[in-house]
Amino acid sequence: MSGDQTTEPQLLGTVVAVQANFYQVRLEEGRVTKEACNSEKSPPPLELLCTRRNRLKKIGQQIMAGDRVVVEEADWVGKRGVVSEVLPRQTQLDRPPVANANRILLVFALAEPPLEPYQLSRFLVKAESTELDVVLCLNKSDLVSSEQRLVVSDRLEEWGYQPIFISVKTGMGIEELFHSLNNKITVFAGLSGVGKSSLINTLIPDLKLRVGEVSGKLARGRHTTRHVQLFELPGGGLLADTPGFNQPDLDCAPQDLANYFPEARERLKGGKCQFSDCLHRDEPNCVVRGDWERYEHYLEFLAEVIALQTQINHQADPESNMKLISKGKGQAQYEPKLESKKYRRMSRRTQLQALQDLYQDEDA
Ligand code: GDP
Ligand code: ZN
Repeated sequence: MSGDQTTEPQLLGTVVAVQANFYQVRLEEGRVTKEACNSEKSPPPLELLCTRRNRLKKIGQQIMAGDRVVVEEADWVGKRGVVSEVLPRQTQLDRPPVANANRILLVFALAEPPLEPYQLSRFLVKAESTELDVVLCLNKSDLVSSEQRLVVSDRLEEWGYQPIFISVKTGMGIEELFHSLNNKITVFAGLSGVGKSSLINTLIPDLKLRVGEVSGKLARGRHTTRHVQLFELPGGGLLADTPGFNQPDLDCAPQDLANYFPEARERLKGGKCQFSDCLHRDEPNCVVRGDWERYEHYLEFLAEVIALQTQINHQADPESNMKLISKGKGQAQYEPKLESKKYRRMSRRTQLQALQDLYQDEDA
């Protein structure tokens, strides 16, 4: 150790893997110098396996993959350290637990399995409900003609999306996709069979090596939902490695649903519905209801969201048709439960958690 510790710059890094109470931290470049690790011979390690300060445990501070953290007590030889602080998060998803993700990359296939509009719509809405940027990537372009691709892209443009057409097999569009991932934390999502693994291996050729490295240290339970790993992309940026998922539940607040359709969002930008709590079904002077392709999807999803909400309300208060309404200043009063007229808005955090239901433990 070189005497005066106070002059040493703070070590900052990003948590790239979490397993039990161990955190693999990727150190920020420029922070780690040969002097810092006191070694003239070998280059400093880029990652340290860390525990967390007891203080963080006591205050219940969770550490997630994607968190930016301050590392202390670096042991450069043993490649160990201690996380002493978690910097404020920009975003937070709870399942998979990922902090600071910028966007969701939905991967679908144009064929094998065939592109199913209703299913795609559902995943898009679920992804939008996290309020992260949503990017749609359509794989297996080699299996359809350019005319067919044009039909799909015209249709999706109406939905408010500009999909990236790719083929892992021929390499088509991979370069464009690759650049769009730079310097961001991206959560990958897609049904199995669409070519997700093939794509990840194409984007990160030495991935297998890294998986081996980390899972060696963080030995057990790689396939539990608690285990999240962020893979470093060769061009900068991180990719969240997540389990596959099945049909997602839509569990947003009914009044938020329209915001998760870009084409409905546009309509709401252009004007206001007469009622501020309009659900865009049969209310008079509604700007959302109308002649757009996915309006049918909207109505179906809305019915589903309302049914789920009703179920949750019943579970919360199974005995009664009355519920406690806060009147502010610590006062509360019982009022009849409202079935489908008015809903409590979900907090932003709850919305961010929404992606969690996209994911199911592969082993579950
Ligand atoms: P995952 O389940 O989403 O991880 O999908 P995989 O990466 O395992 O791929 C599923 C199947 O699709 C495999 O047989 C791949 O060889 C095939 N596949 C992946 N990408 C492409 C592609 O661009 N074109 C074609 N024709 N097949 C592909
Ligand atoms: Zn309306």
